[in-house]
Amino acid sequence: MEQLATPVEKLSFVGPRSLARLKELGIRTVRDLLWHFPHRYDDFSNTMPIAEAQKDQVVNLVGYLTKLDNQRTWKKHMTITTAWIEDETDSIRVVWFNQPYLEKNLPLGCRVSLAGKVKLDKHGLFLSSPSYEKLAEGKESTHTGRLVPVYPETAGLTSKYLRFLIKPLLPYIINLPDPLPQEIREKYRLPTLGKALATIHFPADLITAQQAKRRLAFDELFMFQLRSVINRRRNLLLAAPRLKFDPATVKALVDQLPFQLTNDQRRATFEILKDLEKKYPMNRLLNGDVGSGKTVVALLAAYAAAELGWQAVFMAPTEVLAQQHYKTITSLLKATDTTVALLTASTAKQRASDAITEENIPKVMLLKKIASGEIKIVIATQAILQKDVKLSNPALIVLDEQHRFGVAQRAALLKNQKLVPHLLSMTATPIPRTLALTIYGDLDISLIKEKPAERKPIETKVVPSDQRATAHKFIDQEIASGRQVFVICPRIETPELPVVQMDSAKNLKQSSLWAEVKAVTEEYEKLKNEVFPHRRVAMLHGKLKPKEKEQIMHDFKAGHYDLLVSTSVIEVGIDIPNASVMLIENAERFGLAQLHQFRGRVGRSAHQSYCLLINGSGFGGENHRLQALANSNDGFKLAEIDLTLRGPGEFMGTKQSGIPDLAMASLTDLELIKQARLEAKNILKQDPNLVNYSILKERLAEFQRLRHFE
Ligand code: ADP
Ligand code: MG
Repeated sequence: MEQLATPVEKLSFVGPRSLARLKELGIRTVRDLLWHFPHRYDDFSNTMPIAEAQKDQVVNLVGYLTKLDNQRTWKKHMTITTAWIEDETDSIRVVWFNQPYLEKNLPLGCRVSLAGKVKLDKHGLFLSSPSYEKLAEGKESTHTGRLVPVYPETAGLTSKYLRFLIKPLLPYIINLPDPLPQEIREKYRLPTLGKALATIHFPADLITAQQAKRRLAFDELFMFQLRSVINRRRNLLLAAPRLKFDPATVKALVDQLPFQLTNDQRRATFEILKDLEKKYPMNRLLNGDVGSGKTVVALLAAYAAAELGWQAVFMAPTEVLAQQHYKTITSLLKATDTTVALLTASTAKQRASDAITEENIPKVMLLKKIASGEIKIVIATQAILQKDVKLSNPALIVLDEQHRFGVAQRAALLKNQKLVPHLLSMTATPIPRTLALTIYGDLDISLIKEKPAERKPIETKVVPSDQRATAHKFIDQEIASGRQVFVICPRIETPELPVVQMDSAKNLKQSSLWAEVKAVTEEYEKLKNEVFPHRRVAMLHGKLKPKEKEQIMHDFKAGHYDLLVSTSVIEVGIDIPNASVMLIENAERFGLAQLHQFRGRVGRSAHQSYCLLINGSGFGGENHRLQALANSNDGFKLAEIDLTLRGPGEFMGTKQSGIPDLAMASLTDLELIKQARLEAKNILKQDPNLVNYSILKERLAEFQRLRHFE
């Protein structure tokens, strides 16, 4: 489809200025332009004779221009344009403000179509600042007299300009080849691609607009599904170590654990062990709420592998998490002789096979022991692993707090490996089902929903901001009894922030980071100097160097501070059992899923823990989202609520997610997702290389090229 790839600068009326703005919207080609969909329509279809127009109605009037005057009011620095139009039935006055160029655009005697509200003043009825359009003989209207598309983002271009660019393309659009096979189209009563595109921009009515939207959303979901079916099929062709695990070995370790596994942990462990027996690599996501006990599940699989003579690797995003894993894992493996090592930028440590010796050893030596296969379980930060480590015979790679393993990362780890290791990603971010099916369709998912039994539920309270002092008093009591406390601050937009150019995403990110730092620094100063001068207060934010962050987390964990004020950078997965209070400032600014994550930082021991949500939206008003959080401890349920209350865009953090808008909008439509999934499976089963579907194949290749999720 060569024409879709035509650069927009080839279109008439795209000058350098507009081109730059189109590029800001990510619009480079005709395809991009056509796939920039309106988010709503103005209904200007109420066309009537002038005589019938009544006060306060939104109407569309068509007539001949009989008079037009510009008048400048010097006092208010305004131009008022007064015009008259006339049809067979009557005439009416029209008023615009500050559009002096109308005089040039609308010559006397021309036929115009005007859409806007009828108002009444002392001179009678008039049409107030209507949208206008000069009508040429035999041409239908574009900006008035119909449902008119309004585009969500225009980066300084008007919706009118975009309509103006898109409208002339309609005759070409309507004949676009359709990647979606006719059978599927007919089965689900979807319009053709051309029809859908033409309709979504210029619909005859809202029902057909809806059908067009559904069709285009189906396309995107269909691409996701094709991609996951294909990825899965490719994965089947890879050779992995086959681990015939011995149930007695695993059971022996389970029996030695200081606790009983929950049923969900058992099931997840079994699913993983079964995968390890297969001849192709596992690609599984272990999704369980914070504190649900994912580590031990992964460890059981790692242990099974180690007992069979293979290596298992735990990859953590940070040093603190790697250290934490090392501690947990060595303690759970106490009664075994499995060799375990920890490798981070600052530490090289091993637990030898006598299960007693734990020693720091030179990094070079540890690297040798890992390369020789003497060390069976390796725990390391991702950075180190990818750079320095040569593994001997890895059978299992466990990634903590990561949804997905990048292709490049995987390749880096696999240098010199004949067999592809099994992959287990763990995440505490509860992923709603529709989302999992769409973006993680190529992964198998094990869910842990159950919490370990003895854990006390966290008491969650919404606190109006005028009762903050009470919350602080409570915190002080907790500290007095030996507990530790987190305070989280969101970014607060303050007007004195440096203005940034919107065109640079990096700038924007930087400046919002600074805004965050400013907010957290203010809160830190206040808490340290005014509220808790007698307590030890520390601060954590995104502008600190990784090393500094690590140090603060480490010191907080070691009990050197009573209270840690932090931005949202606070680690996912960090385990500080002594912390019993999580206070979140301006909680209404965060998503439910994220709030739930924060809350998971406490409640990790026998101490009763609390989560205090300061509702900064004020007036003591109800906040449904915060109330939902106070009422439920179920991360999955909260994620679903978040998805419906805030919509998928907000939920996902929109643009970064790489998900096209319509697919995004359909993330709540389980039915449509299922249909797309079914059809993707069917079509690839019947024609694995899509040889009979060349347009579809081309479209899919393009989709793969444009969307990187890794
Ligand atoms: P997460 O899923 O958030 O990574 P962890 O694996 O860190 O959770 O487990 C949190 C804590 O719960 C750890 O101290 C772990 O030893 C403990 N734990 C795990 N499973 C159970 C269980 N079934 N019963 C009691 N405690 C458990
Ligand atoms: Mg964890």
